[in-house]
Amino acid sequence: MTTQGPHPVSGTFPRSDEEIAARVKAMESILVEKDLIASDAIDYMSSVFENELGPHLGAKATARAWVDPEFKLFLLADATAACREIDIGGIQGEEMIVLENTEDVHNVVVCTLCSCYPWPVLGLPPNWYKYPAYRSRAVRDPRGVMAEFGFDPGDDVEVKVWDSSAELRYWVLPRRPEGTEGWSEEELAALVTRDSLLGLTDAITPE
Ligand code: FE
Repeated sequence: MTTQGPHPVSGTFPRSDEEIAARVKAMESILVEKDLIASDAIDYMSSVFENELGPHLGAKATARAWVDPEFKLFLLADATAACREIDIGGIQGEEMIVLENTEDVHNVVVCTLCSCYPWPVLGLPPNWYKYPAYRSRAVRDPRGVMAEFGFDPGDDVEVKVWDSSAELRYWVLPRRPEGTEGWSEEELAALVTRDSLLGLTDAITPE
């Protein structure tokens, strides 16, 4: 599918999927041809990123923190170690810090320099996370960016923006939605979205 029109956050026109696929194929062919990487290694990595890493793992950790106060304290004190305890971890997640959203403070995550992102809990970053417009606007006008995601944290809530780096990767512990008392971890995890783990929205509130 070809994406039409400028991206709402970045204002840039993305390349077509066909063009990106052709570029990736060309790079893969060169790397394999020059013996820099084996094609089964590429298949393995693709499979890991498609099937194993992703926001469902951040959602799992979040749901655990919502139901288990001790785990929540551990997660906020040492996110990397807490995630390891529930078998979540790996490259680009060696030093993670979790920021707790409260009724007074709402946290937003960006990497102003490039696209640093906690892979083990979120998978690979979406394209807009890498665009210069997001990286600058998230700092200058975080409320405006959140509005484009359909979210308003409220005027009386302090918004804090956190700049991830190669050494330190932030993610957000969203607030547990109201009306979820007694829900199982699996049910709660289904309310946690990628965007809420970046602080661009809240978790989904059930009807
Ligand atoms: Fe970066």
